[in-house]
Amino acid sequence: LNRRLAPFGTTIFAEMSALAARTGAINLGQGFPDTDGPEEIREAAVRALRDGRGNQYPPGPGVPELRTAVAEHQLKRYGLAFDPDTEVLVTAGATEAIAASLLALLEPGDEVIALEPYYDSYAACIAMAGGTRVPVTLRPQEGPVGGAAEGRYVLDLDELRAAVTDRTRLILLNTPHNPTGTVLSRAELTAIAELAVERDLLVVTDEVYEHLVFDEAAHIPIASLPGMRERTVTIGSAGKTYSFTGWKVGWITATPELTGAVRSVKQYLTYVSSGPFQYAVAEALRLPDSYYDALRADLRAKRDLLSGGLARAGFAVYRPAGTYFVTTDIRPLGETDGFAFCRSLPERAGVVAIPNAVFYDHREEGAPFVRFAFCKRTSVLEEAVSRLRGL
Ligand code: PMP
Ligand code: GLN
Repeated sequence: LNRRLAPFGTTIFAEMSALAARTGAINLGQGFPDTDGPEEIREAAVRALRDGRGNQYPPGPGVPELRTAVAEHQLKRYGLAFDPDTEVLVTAGATEAIAASLLALLEPGDEVIALEPYYDSYAACIAMAGGTRVPVTLRPQEGPVGGAAEGRYVLDLDELRAAVTDRTRLILLNTPHNPTGTVLSRAELTAIAELAVERDLLVVTDEVYEHLVFDEAAHIPIASLPGMRERTVTIGSAGKTYSFTGWKVGWITATPELTGAVRSVKQYLTYVSSGPFQYAVAEALRLPDSYYDALRADLRAKRDLLSGGLARAGFAVYRPAGTYFVTTDIRPLGETDGFAFCRSLPERAGVVAIPNAVFYDHREEGAPFVRFAFCKRTSVLEEAVSRLRGL
């Protein structure tokens, strides 16, 4: 492995899922649902396969049906109008969208501001593009108290402003945010947008958890703020919203110029994305509101089940406003090292989790935080909670 990528040998998700498989522990590490998405959407994929739609190379930018459905989704949900022919690009999951966007938009040496803790592929893709990452740390608003921390993670806007230099090319955002579950507020997004306009920066925003928001939290795409549509690449994915993480269908929406740049790179990464699944995802994007309401209600109940169980087991819990992850602080358990904790957890309690430190450059900032996924069947979460009780 070349020197730039040497630090990224194996992802934490592969490592921890292998640990779960080896020990038979309940895997609350890697974020994937243990029940598949809607039957009718699976049937749509089967129909596409049978009818010979997409079994040969689909069009490079994605099949028109899916590009149109993505454009309709952005318009209906957020009032954002995109031309399906020039402003939508289908990718092999959000992962390819992230890679292709960074490879397309960065010159070697360009700086990228990323909110820390950041999803692991950001660091690797910035490195692939020869960029330099500049982390701005999200911190818990209130120190965790006893077993019941309730504060959210917040962005220090002064720190963000101070991170911008003459080399800064873009800000890489993620909201709702993995791993903290934070949903950036309108005030935070407005400040980021104003900074981007003032310093003429691009924004690449990973919004794969856009529909997984709870209670009074609302997802706001930064592209909808003044001055942002023309400088933003917005990334979405069917994996999270429709519980088909194995299908690897994602997309970007952006101006024709930005979309064209990302498309140029995509051509040489995967050329095209998986055909029949694109037709099925086009149908998924048109599911009625009741689908999204039910998904949120289900995950909200699971969030509360797992958060409550973790708090009773002695963790300080940062109850997430979005995503299907809950971040905890292990210090109330008398622990300080999330890595060591996660490596021993399968043996101690038969559960696998992810040490948030892997998502930090400032490892010491993330050391005591551990992430658990709650996109699992209720019975699985109940069993995990009962196992953790014995810690
Ligand atoms: N971004 C974030 C923040 C994620 O959590 C994930 C999924 N783990 C991805 C991107 C990747 O999405 P996809 O599976 O569509 O490639
Ligand atoms: N996005 C999921 C997570 O954060 C899975 C990531 C992966 O396996 N690369 O857990």
